[in-house]
Amino acid sequence: MTGPTRGASLRRPGNRQVTMATILQIEQIPVLNDNYVYLLREPATGSVGVVDPSVAAPVLARAQALSWRITHILNTHHHNDHTGGNLEIKQATGGIIVGPRADRARIPGIDVEVGDGDTYLFGQAPAQVFDVPGHTRGHIAFWFAESNALFSGDTLFTLGCGRLFEGTPQQMWTSLGKLRRLPDATRVYCGHEYTQSNARFALTVEPDNAALRAYSARVDAMRAEGKSTVPGLLGEEKATNPFLRADQASLAAHVGLSADDPVAVFAAVRRRKDVF
Ligand code: ZN
Ligand code: FE
Repeated sequence: MTGPTRGASLRRPGNRQVTMATILQIEQIPVLNDNYVYLLREPATGSVGVVDPSVAAPVLARAQALSWRITHILNTHHHNDHTGGNLEIKQATGGIIVGPRADRARIPGIDVEVGDGDTYLFGQAPAQVFDVPGHTRGHIAFWFAESNALFSGDTLFTLGCGRLFEGTPQQMWTSLGKLRRLPDATRVYCGHEYTQSNARFALTVEPDNAALRAYSARVDAMRAEGKSTVPGLLGEEKATNPFLRADQASLAAHVGLSADDPVAVFAAVRRRKDVF
């Protein structure tokens, strides 16, 4: 996993240039009430990306403290608590703004438009892009497979999902299905620290889920110590997050529906959460 060649391009016998996997360094910056902004550094090229800058000042300050020079801004969706720092950071650093093609008109300063199926090369680290509409109609997620890192914005939260401001239950269930297919070892870097309140809700719809109860207890302990509960682990989310489990009989039964119609189950669970 480690060694001096990590992230470097090597000449191999046969004259074929081989690019080694490049693992991102990731820094989490809590801002506003409960938002998370992420700084990513790709070690081979020194590229530094900011994911979803709500605001500029704390992001610029952290980058400076790390001696990381910001080269990119990555946006998952247009909401101001994810893009509010775009222009100031771009002005200060010259960083390239990468955001959803489907929502280009609402992403301040967008330079590069990406969408479903695209692979965006951040330095030497490929990010696979998924269109994940539902919370907003142009929401995207970035998956860095080599780093086991998913930046899910306000689509997939730890133990929850985003509100359906601009989409239907069918759209959101389909979007979450794309993320659910990723490997269990994927870390979920979401846009907010909502895990504890999400856990309280999740326990109302799957009270007998032992994995959920264990996760919830752990989250309570972490929050009592003021610790971040993000990133989560996708494998654990699959076993506990009700919004990834609308096709599970235990959850469907609890809301009086059949797991044969996961969209209806998803919609019912989402409605309950909206008024929880
Ligand atoms: Zn949002
Ligand atoms: Fe948000």
